[in-house]
Amino acid sequence: MSRFWSPIVHKLEPYVPGEQPKIANLIKLNTNENPYGPSPKVLDVLKQGINDDLRLYPDPNSSKLKKTIADYYHVNTEQIFVGNGSDEVLAHIFNALFQHDAPLLFPDISYSFYPVYCQLYQIDYQTIPLTQQFEIDINDYQQKNGGIIFPNPNAPTGRLLTLSAIKQLLQNNTESVVVIDEAYIDFGGETAISLVKQYPNLLVTQTLSKSRSLANLRIGFAIGHTDLIEALVRVKDSFNSYPMSNLAISAGIAAFNDQDYFEETCQKIINSRDELEQALIALGFEVLPSSANFVFTRHPHHDAEELAAALRQQGIIVRHFQKTRIKQFLRVTIGTLEQNQQLIQALKTVI
Ligand SMILES: *Cc1c(COP(=O)(O)O)cnc(C)c1O
Repeated sequence: MSRFWSPIVHKLEPYVPGEQPKIANLIKLNTNENPYGPSPKVLDVLKQGINDDLRLYPDPNSSKLKKTIADYYHVNTEQIFVGNGSDEVLAHIFNALFQHDAPLLFPDISYSFYPVYCQLYQIDYQTIPLTQQFEIDINDYQQKNGGIIFPNPNAPTGRLLTLSAIKQLLQNNTESVVVIDEAYIDFGGETAISLVKQYPNLLVTQTLSKSRSLANLRIGFAIGHTDLIEALVRVKDSFNSYPMSNLAISAGIAAFNDQDYFEETCQKIINSRDELEQALIALGFEVLPSSANFVFTRHPHHDAEELAAALRQQGIIVRHFQKTRIKQFLRVTIGTLEQNQQLIQALKTVI
């Protein structure tokens, strides 16, 4: 606290990211990183990108990356916005596209950055409880609102909403922007990008951090009607004209161009997830059905926080949230098959 702080800084309760400990040989299953490295083709273009051009500012429009993403999803380049991680894209969305005359709606159990952006941009919000089974029920979203946002699959539950449910939501909600945060869509869900043409108030965000294993390079994007994209560009150009380096741009392009590697690593994670789910169930855990690269799980007889502490003793870190409704759950990122086996071995010593 300081008397030099602005009024808004006094009130901020910032997002707390999952820890990045500097401990060797840790099995890190707490921040949904990809256990496999990025495509070797990405590493090649990054090496080539280490040259004198680093003295130059990058393309402020990241045009080539936008073109790559547009071609990949069969939309126009003008329907793409890219940013320094989808967190930055989301921040601009909160600033540019949510109205202030009614509350923004999102689930009670959801990405914990949303309420932080609301605070930062002074947006009123209302949380809508997930069902008993931790599902989003779109019928609960029929009220006047300044916008609607949720991850699909949801985080940290991993539960997926069908495309037809999203379509129904869009049919019911035509007067405000609906944002589907598809950070985990590549692990088994169906993207809502195909609905963008039909619904001018739909914005879909994705990231290269999870399924394309580039969390460190900070590459995220949004796809929607050109009017929505224009709003984001206006905010971006009032904030930072150069959010993407040449390295991030060329790595992003290379990642989209290596479809084989992408499919292969996603499939490995999906197989690993199914195996981990079975092993957890065999130990008596309840596991929510996951379409993401993590599972959300609880044990009827073991306290989640104690389990997390016991795992940590054995060099494995998972995520635990101090939030009433989910405090008996652990969110476990899907690792390699070997990491999963080590996790199960460690749990067996505790349970
Ligand atoms: C990881 C995550 C993001 C942020 O991804 P970055 O592109 O790395 O900023 C956004 N939304 C959800 C739900 C996430 O889990």
